Amino acid sequence: MNQLISIIIPAYNEENNLPIVAAAIEKVFATIQYRYEIIFIDDGSADNTVAVLKQLAAKNDCIKYILFSRNFGKDNALSAGLQKAKGDAIVTIDADMQHPPEMIVQMVELWQQGNEVVYTYREEKNEHASSFNKLGSSLFYKTINRLSDIELEDGTADYRLIDRKVVDVLNALPENDPFYRGLVKWVGFTQKSIPYTPNERSFGETKYSRRTLTRLALRGITSFSTKPLNIAIYLGFTFSLLSVLYIPYAMLSLYFGWDALSGWASIIVTIAFFGGLQLMILGIIGLYLGKLFMQNKQRPHFIIKETNTN
Ligand code: UDP
Ligand code: MG
Repeated sequence: MNQLISIIIPAYNEENNLPIVAAAIEKVFATIQYRYEIIFIDDGSADNTVAVLKQLAAKNDCIKYILFSRNFGKDNALSAGLQKAKGDAIVTIDADMQHPPEMIVQMVELWQQGNEVVYTYREEKNEHASSFNKLGSSLFYKTINRLSDIELEDGTADYRLIDRKVVDVLNALPENDPFYRGLVKWVGFTQKSIPYTPNERSFGETKYSRRTLTRLALRGITSFSTKPLNIAIYLGFTFSLLSVLYIPYAMLSLYFGWDALSGWASIIVTIAFFGGLQLMILGIIGLYLGKLFMQNKQRPHFIIKETNTN
């Protein structure tokens, strides 16, 4: 019995791309000896994505779909796909053909050689990306590598193959805001990275504006590190220290009569000192509150409206 490979494709307003990507994947599997299933996740599209998906599924039994009740974001779409996939290995890939589907062959080979995760990173920087986006992207990878204890390669993509063992681990994580690019690295196992050169998007345009990219970056960083919360603590320390240094000056000015108002020195020193101290304590509380908050939001991270997977 051949092994089964699940291909997971999140799709948000991709009506024109779906037939192309489905055909490309069918072509790949015509050349290798594996069974496959394609699971499309409609992430609350407003165009004809759902109708197109149903047509594709009617023509090919290997094509499944999961329809979300609204837009929940790409990582949650991946999450739903990972839970429904039955494959011995799972490949996640974008719907817009930017991730070259023919690379699946190479990924599967590397998997057969014992790699439990085969992930890709963008090698040639997208020439069409604005310099703002390029700068933002490299800044993001630098920050997350510095603040957290995972190491992400610059340009790590959501195009990867994951062995069943690792998928089971990922599915068991009670993460309420999964950031798979980081999580997949975080779980460990034998990993192998390969470079890819992104194609141009075949139809439509990117779903990520600068604002959503910034939000994604912040989400990535905060889901792997609580260090940003420490800022308040460091600020608190700094101000407390500065106010302590201020004490000798205040005393001298009292002695030499530099200040006209008496009582001013002691008041300003007290205010500065306690201001700093309060910020510091607030920072510590914030640290714990942030953790509790994240843990407490036990909402489902996606809602399935309809599916033909079982
Ligand atoms: N996507 C999604 N939900 C969203 C945004 C994007 O499922 O809210 C899908 C989209 O359909 C595509 C993939 O995620 O298959 C990558 O999106 P896009 O090509 O817009 O991102 P980029 O390649 O520009 O980073
Ligand atoms: Mg894209």
